[in-house]
Amino acid sequence: MTSTLSATTSAEAPLAVPSAMLIGGRWVASGDDRVIDVLDPATGNLLAQVADGSVDDGLAAVAAASEALAAWSTTAPRARGEILRKAFELMTERSEDLARLITLENGKALPDARGEVAYAAEFFRWYSEEAVRAVGDIQTAPSGANRIMVLHQPIGVAVLVTPWNFPAAMATRKIGPALAAGCTVILKPASETPLTALAIGAILIEAGVPAGVVNIVPSKRSGAVVGAMLRDPRVRKISFTGSTEVGRRLLATASECVVNASMELGGNAPFLVFDDADLDAAVDGAMIAKMRNGGEACTAANRLYVQAGIAPAFTAALTERMNALTTGPGLDDGVDVGPLVNAESRDKVAELVDDAVAKGATATTGGRSPDGTGWFYPPTVLTNVPADALILDEEIFGPVAPVVVFDTEDEAITLANDTEYGLVAYLYTGDLARGLRVSEALEAGMIGLNRALVSDPAAPFGGVKQSGLGREGGHDGLLEYLESKYIAVTW
Ligand code: NAP
Ligand code: MG
Repeated sequence: MTSTLSATTSAEAPLAVPSAMLIGGRWVASGDDRVIDVLDPATGNLLAQVADGSVDDGLAAVAAASEALAAWSTTAPRARGEILRKAFELMTERSEDLARLITLENGKALPDARGEVAYAAEFFRWYSEEAVRAVGDIQTAPSGANRIMVLHQPIGVAVLVTPWNFPAAMATRKIGPALAAGCTVILKPASETPLTALAIGAILIEAGVPAGVVNIVPSKRSGAVVGAMLRDPRVRKISFTGSTEVGRRLLATASECVVNASMELGGNAPFLVFDDADLDAAVDGAMIAKMRNGGEACTAANRLYVQAGIAPAFTAALTERMNALTTGPGLDDGVDVGPLVNAESRDKVAELVDDAVAKGATATTGGRSPDGTGWFYPPTVLTNVPADALILDEEIFGPVAPVVVFDTEDEAITLANDTEYGLVAYLYTGDLARGLRVSEALEAGMIGLNRALVSDPAAPFGGVKQSGLGREGGHDGLLEYLESKYIAVTW
């Protein structure tokens, strides 16, 4: 079962993409023949229909992953690493097709999609290298009577649930470390963007991943299907990226079954600019932190706090840069900002802007949905945003930058930390001592200090407070799929 996607604006060859589920190394239709309609956010048109997995399909995937576990977990780490390395090479070779596919189903502008493919492939390269580094530990017991030996063993079958905003990178960030550790997986991609996940599944099979090691079950019936998988005693791990609301529900189910859980949840990132910052660097940084992926990133700068002395120049420069961006279908030449993923997301962004404006904020650029087809919203800057505006509390997930002016460092820290989230925070200052002092005081799992892009496959990505549990990327990411086994030994 494949779909041929020809909704491209260029003369390039159409893309052939799997549209069936991947279970036990075979591409199969949904057990009850239901399908998910995948839409092009630039037009609202139907792109493809993909198998909509049922509870039975999810459990068949658990069975396949469970059967494949013994052989995969005892496959030589080097051999597992070589397969991941091959997957990195294939993804890199096919990067342009994958980027176009991401743009088609997610909407993001092609340059953002290309950036995502490169980032996503790096997780396979990084974890191809980490596969041979699940190092253990040995020590003499304090009593001197024995040795304490610690091995790391794969946790077992892992269920991976991913969102639509980075359909490739959120999948590889989980599959890479899971396979490196020796786990087998079932991936449940977001229903808006299942095609990219299935294309990555095909690449993994081609790279030599044995049948059943990676299973992919798209499903619109996510609560029922993921819930049934978590309640199956063969499943030992859930790794989820998505909203805090769904994360809480999955943690509740995981607690019933005592399943190991990693959660990458929502964000509400503050972006602080102090008077002593380099203005150009701060504006460049704000453009990246706000506009990467059209603002549809959990790491997106959600609240810009700017010190009074630099605020007029910063706001003017930001307005000019945002105003100069071109919005349009993501595959078109010269487009910087594509549509939002669906009508609901676009309407939510519009509501947040309207609420802020009704409470006294001013849009210095943008601020209104255009007429016509597609789920577009223009790059928008809001000034004089009052403290009670919903946009300062809720994740915007769109191309809107609300600017709030502050006076003192203490005030900036208090404002930045006044949120239930704690994924990432950014700050720009020319004073390194202040930079490190404020970095330590900010309640976030990650800090961008004079740097607006923190995501890196070699670094531990994750949040504190309601932004999640655990880390992905780096060596920490591998440990999330390993259990420590302690052997007390006398010799
Ligand atoms: P979402 O609604 O939470 O969905 C995420 C995934 O969970 C999708 O695959 C979805 O499937 C599935 N899902 C929905 N309800 C479920 C349930 N009851 N049980 C099991 N699975 C369920 O989030 P989203 O709207 O797709 O993505 C946006 C959110 O993700 C934002 O809040 C953003 O901050 C967060 N995010 C966080 C990170 C991070 O690393 N911290 C990264 C990216 C995104 P369906 O598509 O079928 O509903
Ligand atoms: Mg959703």
